[in-house]
Parts: sequence; C-alpha cells; structure tokens
Amino acid sequence: MSSKVGFIYSQAYEEYSFGPEHPFNSRRLVVTLDLLRRSGILQKEDLFEPRAVGRRDLLSAHSSSYIDTVQRLSAAGSEPDLEHGLGSEDTPVFQHMHEASALVVGGSVLAAKLVMEGRLEHALNMGGGLHHAMRDKASGFCIYNDAVVAISFLKQHYKARVAYIDIDAHHGDGVQAAFYCDPNVLTISVHETGRYLFPGTGFEEERGIGEGYGYSANLPLDAFTEDDSWIKSFGAVVPALVESFRPDIIITQNGCDGHILDPLTHLCCTTRSYDAAFRLLHKLAHRLCNGKLVALGGGGYDWYRVVPRVWAMLWSELSGRDLPEELPPDWLTDWGQEARVKLPEQFLDNPYMFDAVPRRAEIEDKNERTVQRLLSGAVYQLNKFV
Ligand SMILES: [Zn+2]
Ligand SMILES: [Zn+2]
Repeated sequence: MSSKVGFIYSQAYEEYSFGPEHPFNSRRLVVTLDLLRRSGILQKEDLFEPRAVGRRDLLSAHSSSYIDTVQRLSAAGSEPDLEHGLGSEDTPVFQHMHEASALVVGGSVLAAKLVMEGRLEHALNMGGGLHHAMRDKASGFCIYNDAVVAISFLKQHYKARVAYIDIDAHHGDGVQAAFYCDPNVLTISVHETGRYLFPGTGFEEERGIGEGYGYSANLPLDAFTEDDSWIKSFGAVVPALVESFRPDIIITQNGCDGHILDPLTHLCCTTRSYDAAFRLLHKLAHRLCNGKLVALGGGGYDWYRVVPRVWAMLWSELSGRDLPEELPPDWLTDWGQEARVKLPEQFLDNPYMFDAVPRRAEIEDKNERTVQRLLSGAVYQLNKFV
C-alpha cells in the first residue's frame, strides 16, 4: 500500500537533554535516525521540520503560571522549583528547556495538522510522547505534554474525535488526566502495573468521570509479562474499544521501555510485541479513520540495542518500506564503539535469546483476569459509544 508519510524531525531536538548521566537522552534519536537512513527506509522528502509552538497552544495543556516558571528556569544556572516538578532528580532544569520542549510540542502539532488535513496519511514524531507532564507540573522527564496539546489542537480546529493509545511501559497519566472528563477523547494506556512502578496509577478501575466516564481505559499488566501475554491482552482490549469509539484520527505513543533489555521497567517484551502492536494500530487507522494516524515516541532507555530497532520497525510499518533482516554493518561498527555493549545484529529478537520467566503461568493468569475486569466494565462503555 503506498501512502504519503511524514517524518517530523529537527536537529534541535537534541537540545531536549537532561545531561549525559540521565536515562532520558536525545542521543537515542540521533542513533535511530542514522539507522533509518542507513537501512534505506528514510528519504529526504519524508522529512518535515517543526517550529516551536507559542504560548497560546501551550495553554491548552498547561497553566499560565507553570509556563511562566518553565520560561524563567530556562535561563542558565536556575534554581529548582520542586512545587512545579522542576529540578528534581527525574526532571532537572536545563538551559533553554522552554524552547526545546515547545519545539517537541510543535512537532506533534505539525504531525496532527498534516495528517488531519490529509496532506499526510501517517506521521511520526519520535521526539514526542512526553505523556507524564501535568497541567501544573513537570513529571517523569516530561516538561510540556505534546500529546495533550496536539489532541486539543485537533479538537479545537477540526472538532475531531481522537483515540489516543499509549503502549509505553509507564501509565500515560498526563494525557489521561487532561481528558478524564471528555467524551470526545478516548485514552487507552497499556503498561506495567503501577503497583511498583512510576507513576503508580493506571488501574483498570480508572475509567473517566462525568461525561467522560468510559472514555479512559487502562490495562495494567503484571511485572515480567512476556510477549504472548502482552500481545493477547493488547489484542483483547484495544481493537474492541477503538472500533466502538469510531475516532476521526488515532494518536499512538510508542514508548519501547517495556522491552526486556530496558533498564527502567520490569516488562519482558521483545520486538515481537512491538511488531504486533504497530501492525494492529496501523490496520485500525485504515479501517476506522481513512488511515489517519499520528505516531509519537516516548520512553526507551536502552538507546542502542532497543530504541533504534523498535522505532525503525515502527517507521517501516507506517511507510510500507521493508527493513532488511540484518542491521547495516557500518551502523553496527560506528555505534558499537559508543554503546560499549554488544549490539544485536538483526532487527527482530530471537525469541530463544532470553530465559523464560519462571512465574509465567501465574502472570498470564493474572493478566487474563485484569483483561476480564477491564472488559466487563467496558460493556457499559462500548454500549455507550454506539
Ligand atoms: Zn515509560
Ligand atoms: Zn498505511
């Protein structure tokens, strides 16, 4: 299937950086972009350069006083402001953070606009997906919430009904909170349970409130969930909800920190889960909304072994351009030195490369019960949508 796809990127995305010791590092974008290029699946005409959004757009997601604070702390040598979540160990302040964050938001808004107006069928902004940022507070490496601004933009300018699907290993709490009362935005988050993991929310009982009741859905999976159970649970929940919601456009957050090699979470997915999710979400967009699909990045803390391969698979799926089986040898040589770990040589993980989780059956059972609880509550939701 040939379609026009857009890759939203600016070299200035590299400025969104908490420093070399911090797990969230924009180096991963550089490494990934280089892999796309050398694998021959990214072309010059795919690239779209974003511009930073202004205050008016940011106000759809954040309070005026919060934006003021971010702007003030963007100067060199600023003191932390922990009340606004800025300057914590997770989210340190850095010079020009207002400009760098507003540019990432601009990327997601541009992606949404180009897709909604039909100039592109699909767009990817891998700098985006900063799903933890709250109205008044930075959180979990996220300063401005690009997904919330982009969704608000779609509602305001096109009166669009938006389905937001978040597969990051952490709960998409900031996006859920922004639309918790809103029946025109369906948010679905599939993540590791918040029982032990940041941000500690995203349980299946969280379904929205008031008019928005039924329009938030959460699938919290047990720690150490592997591919089979991840794919089965995802497949049992996501298509059913999105189909009954009938969105005008789908926005996905594609954090790949649920991979078994990721240092920050306890999910045990391999490339197989991501491949399955990307295919399914792509298919849903074509079936339900003329292909309108905006894909954002998100978490991913193994910058060399996981993020580049998984997001290359995402771009391959959206663009319809096949990846080779093996990673380009020159890419492996060049980045292997910087990575200081042995890099996988194939795009797809070998399923036998990792040991089976000993409590597998128990975990699968638990996930199955979570899915049942979610769906039994969702019967009301599904009926309400129609
Ligand atoms: Zn995450
Ligand atoms: Zn397509």
